Amino acid sequence: MSRVVVVGAGVGGLATAARLAAAGHEVTVHERADVVGGKLGRYVRSAPEGDFRFDTGPSLLTLPQVFADLFEATGAKLDEYLDLRPLDPIVRHRFPDGGGLDSCADPDVFADRIGAAFGDRAAADWRRLWRRAGRVWAASWRDILRRPVDSPTALAGLAWRLGDLAAIGPGQTLRGLGRRTLRDPRLRMLLDRYATYTGADPRRAPAALVAVPYAELAFGGWYLDGGLGTLADALLSRCLDLGVVVQTGSTVTRIEAAGGRVHGVRLAGATAPVPADVVVANVDALTVYRDLLPTPARLSRLADRSLAGFVLLLGVRGSTGLAHHNVFFPDHRRYPASYDAEFDAVFGDPGRGVPARPAPDPTVFVTVADDPAVRPAGHEAWFVLVNAARHGRALDAVDWRRPGLATAYADRILDVLAARGVDVRDRLVFREIRTPADLAHATAAPGGAIYGTAGGLLRPANRTPARGVFLVGGSTHPGGGLPMVTLSAQIVADAVGTA
Ligand SMILES: Cc1cc2nc3c(=O)[nH]c(=O)nc-3n(C[C@H](O)[C@H](O)[C@H](O)COP(=O)(O)OP(=O)(O)OC[C@H]3O[C@@H](n4cnc5c(N)ncnc54)[C@H](O)[C@@H]3O)c2cc1C
Repeated sequence: MSRVVVVGAGVGGLATAARLAAAGHEVTVHERADVVGGKLGRYVRSAPEGDFRFDTGPSLLTLPQVFADLFEATGAKLDEYLDLRPLDPIVRHRFPDGGGLDSCADPDVFADRIGAAFGDRAAADWRRLWRRAGRVWAASWRDILRRPVDSPTALAGLAWRLGDLAAIGPGQTLRGLGRRTLRDPRLRMLLDRYATYTGADPRRAPAALVAVPYAELAFGGWYLDGGLGTLADALLSRCLDLGVVVQTGSTVTRIEAAGGRVHGVRLAGATAPVPADVVVANVDALTVYRDLLPTPARLSRLADRSLAGFVLLLGVRGSTGLAHHNVFFPDHRRYPASYDAEFDAVFGDPGRGVPARPAPDPTVFVTVADDPAVRPAGHEAWFVLVNAARHGRALDAVDWRRPGLATAYADRILDVLAARGVDVRDRLVFREIRTPADLAHATAAPGGAIYGTAGGLLRPANRTPARGVFLVGGSTHPGGGLPMVTLSAQIVADAVGTA
């Protein structure tokens, strides 16, 4: 059995630690922050009215079976640790003309809702897309999401069935797929938005991402009573029960290797290295290759970086009657220009010297949990998220620390919401802002990018060139989001077992 050091106590790090401890390894987790969970963050604001509790990261849990499998593999049951609540609607989509569409986990009911809202033609289009999405999902689940994909040749060499290949549409974009299969601009926007679940621009994201809405709408969207942050508590207590040592406030500054094989890590402020046979880095792949491995290397698979998010945490007086998740889209009657303006702003066009900037009229995502545990009686705790450029000084980033920028943009978002029919400006108990710079500071995510590496099927591999060093988490295969990083933990734990 090996001595394993896990660097980072994000969901991917904790899930790997639990799996490896259950397999009998001696596991220590070093986390630079004072708390575990990484991007699965939490914040409590005490006000005279009472405590407002916020999830500052994820608000939607999908593919619960992935978490059930994790707990099962470590000798426990998910429902002994967490209270999962299915959501209906999963998301309420609102359009500026007053129209709306509620998504749900029953494909027939959802198609009927589309028919009632946008007409039979739109419903028929969606049904066609759904069949294709099901094939893409099945192929991805079978061949990509639960196994290592270490090289372009490994991906190309997969024995895709012809039908799968036709459905996946290699070389096609998600935008192109929407244009070909959906006639209603509102459905096209809805499909486009799923590219952002991987941090990507729908005009560049592969059509295979149609598997993302399939996963959400086939297996459901879930809330955890008490907030999604309770998942971090559950993973931590599972780790501790299995004998994992978790050290917070402990930063790894270097992974030590000799002769191509890892032998330990160095901690900030410590003189002697910590010995290890295996190191699992839950740190952004870019940082591992550039700063932590003994021989700095460039990552060839980092064509696109993920977008970031600009977040408002609001204490709101009274009840607004919003659904749990609400998406307020820009004007679909001017699609695609109205939606493209958002991606043009968030990514900029560095090749032409056009800098990234805050999108003036963005899609606004509002989460309001109907959970008495997270807000005082007669109040709501709002999590508001818009897509944003990463933090930085390059052309494809925004310096979110520029004086006045964040408050001006927060004002702008509240104005946009008011223009789209939800005005809470005079009902605020407080307003707090979390910019991409804040996320970068809290979690060491470069630029505050939500999903590490964006978009494609080919992300940095879970194995690195240094023997015994593995990558887990959102910047590596199979991608970002809670279920994907949990699957990456399974892939890494299996790989350690065979190393
Ligand atoms: C605003 C927002 C909304 C989101 N919404 C959703 C959603 O609704 N649904 C969903 O599924 N996903 C969502 N996500 C994505 C999801 O949160 C992430 O994909 C996931 O939590 C990332 O987990 P990870 O394993 O990659 O680790 P991370 O969360 O990136 O954690 C890495 C950890 O490593 C630590 N670390 C870094 N460097 C070092 C070092 N040198 N030494 C020691 N420790 C170190 C960091 O402090 C951090 O705790 C959202 C994310 C954000 C930010």
